[in-house]
Amino acid sequence: MDITLLGTGSPLPDPRRGGPATLVRTSGHQILVDAGRAVVMRLAGAGTLPVMLNAVLITHLHSDHLTDLNDVITTHWVMSQQPTTLTIYGPPRTNEVVQATLAALAPDISYRLAHHQDTLTWKPQVEVIEVAPGDQFSIGPVQVKVAETHHRPVEPTVAYRLEDDSVSVVLGGDGIPCATLDDLCRGATAYVQTVLRDDLVKLIPNKRFLDILDYHSTVEQAAQTAQRAGVSKLILTHYVPSIQPGQEDEWRAIAARHFSGEIVLGDDLTTTSL
Ligand SMILES: [Zn+2]
Ligand SMILES: [Zn+2]
Repeated sequence: MDITLLGTGSPLPDPRRGGPATLVRTSGHQILVDAGRAVVMRLAGAGTLPVMLNAVLITHLHSDHLTDLNDVITTHWVMSQQPTTLTIYGPPRTNEVVQATLAALAPDISYRLAHHQDTLTWKPQVEVIEVAPGDQFSIGPVQVKVAETHHRPVEPTVAYRLEDDSVSVVLGGDGIPCATLDDLCRGATAYVQTVLRDDLVKLIPNKRFLDILDYHSTVEQAAQTAQRAGVSKLILTHYVPSIQPGQEDEWRAIAARHFSGEIVLGDDLTTTSL
């Protein structure tokens, strides 16, 4: 199983980092988790395309995690050679967001259908499956478990555990530590968590920025969750603020004070194999 951090940024615009998105590739299957800014560019950078995805999983409906879902839908559609369904899993209200996205794309869809009358005779085929904590399902050989996370007032938010061939990864999404996330992570091979550095965020005297401290895991908290759950590899992403060149070891050292396993972080397209 290969895990690729497609986008390691956050809502803060950064020319070097796309928005939150992670690609899981295993047994010939490709699963995209979240679809932030520049996700289709980064999929191309990882050597793949939306039309090659087996499913999209959305952790929650914050805009930074799905702002480029429209690009995934459109690019999947225009590159398909026959009607091909894009399946999107997400928490309640995901269907509302996807239908609104399709509504926004209606002019574009009509233009392309009119222009390619011989070769593109179908609209985007999108199937939305809304999930709830405790759900289990499979995507090909990949077993998926869903658990609740704590990112209030954003509700509901979920994390996913993907298992294939005795290897597992938890995609924690945004949020602070909680018992349901601990349970989902227990014994996992890897755990991907979005994080912030509270020591750096507190340096910015801006109330709206300081508000984010109460609903995101710090680097320390992510490391503590990984340690409690007996995870082998901790993968950090969604860096707030952005890791500056040369700061990687400093971030890694903070996590290493609380977690004895391997710690992975880096630029967009950082890939680790399980
Ligand atoms: Zn986020
Ligand atoms: Zn969020």
